Amino acid sequence: GLERVLRPGRIGRLALPHRIVMGAMHLGWENRDDDGRALAAFYLARVAGGAGLMVTGGAAVSAAGADVPGFGVLDDAAFRDRLRRVAGEVGAAGGLLALQLFHAGRYARPAADGPRPVAPSAVPSPISRLTPDALPAAGVARIVEDFARGAHHARDLGFSAVEIMGSEGYLIDQFLSPLTNRRDDEWGGDPQRRMRFGVAVVRAVRAAVGADFPVVMRMTGDDLLPGGTDRDTVAQYARALVAAGADALNVGVGWHESPVPTVQAVVPPGHWVPVASVVKAAVGGLPVLASNRINRLTQAEAILAGTTLDLVSMARPFLADPALVERSRAGRPVNICVACNQACIDRSLVGAVVSCMVNPLVGREADPGSGAAPAGTDPTASAELPASTDPTGSADLPMPAEPVIHVEPVTRAGPVVRVGAVAGSRAVAVVGAGPAGLRAAHDLALAGHRVTVYEADREPGGQFRLACRVPGKADYAETIRFLTAELTRLGVVLHTGRPVAGADEDLLRRYDGVIVATGVVPRRPDLPGGALPHVRDYGTAFTDDALGRRVAVIGGGGIAVDLAHLASEPGAGPPRQVTILLRGDRLAPRMGRSTRWAVLAELRRRQVTVVTGVRGLRVDPDAVHLVDGTGAARSVPADTVVVAAGQLPADALVRTVRRVGVWHRVVGGARDTVGLDAVRAIAEGHAAALAF
Ligand code: SF4
Repeated sequence: GLERVLRPGRIGRLALPHRIVMGAMHLGWENRDDDGRALAAFYLARVAGGAGLMVTGGAAVSAAGADVPGFGVLDDAAFRDRLRRVAGEVGAAGGLLALQLFHAGRYARPAADGPRPVAPSAVPSPISRLTPDALPAAGVARIVEDFARGAHHARDLGFSAVEIMGSEGYLIDQFLSPLTNRRDDEWGGDPQRRMRFGVAVVRAVRAAVGADFPVVMRMTGDDLLPGGTDRDTVAQYARALVAAGADALNVGVGWHESPVPTVQAVVPPGHWVPVASVVKAAVGGLPVLASNRINRLTQAEAILAGTTLDLVSMARPFLADPALVERSRAGRPVNICVACNQACIDRSLVGAVVSCMVNPLVGREADPGSGAAPAGTDPTASAELPASTDPTGSADLPMPAEPVIHVEPVTRAGPVVRVGAVAGSRAVAVVGAGPAGLRAAHDLALAGHRVTVYEADREPGGQFRLACRVPGKADYAETIRFLTAELTRLGVVLHTGRPVAGADEDLLRRYDGVIVATGVVPRRPDLPGGALPHVRDYGTAFTDDALGRRVAVIGGGGIAVDLAHLASEPGAGPPRQVTILLRGDRLAPRMGRSTRWAVLAELRRRQVTVVTGVRGLRVDPDAVHLVDGTGAARSVPADTVVVAAGQLPADALVRTVRRVGVWHRVVGGARDTVGLDAVRAIAEGHAAALAF
């Protein structure tokens, strides 16, 4: 049950419909010159999906506080006008939106002609690789006033609350920590004086908004930095924030520069809850929010049941599924955030517009049906494969009454309920039930088309069926489960164990359109000894329960890293000895910035060996022989050799659909494996559905 999580809550005078708060996320289009339309649409979609209190991405209280160029600054009247529209529309729809008041301090990465970053002391930032200017005392007092002015704006613009951004290592944290506050004046020198800035900000914000306006303080419960703020100071600080007027404390964990992963998939869900509990113990009755790496309402329920915490903040899960709360309430499948960070945090880190791997609609809420390619997709994606027939001209082609199935097993034949009553609905075949094909089928069915999916494998899922075996990636199976459940609900027929090949021209002719989403095949480079029985490609290795004790992985991309992670997972018996052999000198160079270091640290912890600059590979029955980057000949003992040296498009069907002359699109790995990732594949599936 979800009794606790769905019970109404309260922050100050603000009544909340349930115990979930949507945490702040910087989206990258806060400052788009569209009168706030896209931003309002993003929040309205979440309101419609049952979100209670939502916190906006940061709004800088001054130009120097902006995180990246293009960040919204509250002194900018045009930005405030957009916010007024957003707050007004969300309020009119019954939503609750808190404005987050933000100052990046030394993390700011200004444009060349932007203001210099400022901080308590001139301590270089590993995030911006800049050294900030140390603030004079008068400058500190001015920033306190900036926060107060920002809070006043928030109330005036029609927001329901404010959240003060005091976590993640931004300015307020920089004052609190002895690592970044080296002052010896009223704003630093001992814990009491280091706390003073955050406390002064809360007091000033409270004075600006009055007694009845809800003020949430986002604070760091544990900065995860050696020599950082100690636990006693955190507890004292929390009490001081409450005394200064905070109505609730939202507890973050870690700074952006902390050497400990906090939100990556390698972090077990709910891992950081005890940090919030320590803060709760310090402040007693005041509402305290747990956050970080909580992606299901059932987890939130367990947190509320097992602790004295009052509320749970979830952020990325609302990107993945705007209807997270409503679907959970109704017991319907949820599109779970898999903590990949690929389309959200990694993009945000480089100042790009955010989306979501498993939900390509993020950022397009204002125009969900438009044919424009989603952010991050190459709009020319299918340009080399033009539609070969006019889709409207093929509407009178005979419909497959019931697709003819030649190959057993045939499972999961969908229900008979079809959504085909929609005017203009046409018949589409999607070939391939990996993430791209399933997404295309889902979006086509939502648009009212009659969709049939053919999958050669016995199960849908494609590459995600491999990924979900990797430690920390089990939730990738949820993406498949969600999409297949949605297909069933939408009346899509899914045939598994049914390849579509060159001989199926007649079958393809029955459709008005075909989406080719046949994925990839592993590349098997010509390798002396490569045909030996203990050499296998990555696809079989992922599903092979009989890997030897000494595993050599040939390849240096994300799949090789995933395999090494899987093979080195502690289990029964002595630990496996895993060696990665890569040609280049940088492992997984394309893995996202937020995730790569955490994954590589985990491999180091498991004593996975990495050999770079590998040449002259030769496999024999018990070793791989090679020349390494230093020119030295080496033999790596191995009883299993896994080749993860790239992929090739599985695109044989493309010729057939061209010959048949049916409207088609080729998406995902079947189109191109260069630079392929799941974000692109799923976005292409979505774009193809819109293009039909
Ligand atoms: Fe979650 Fe990945 Fe989507 Fe980000 S991109 S919200 S981490 S699923």
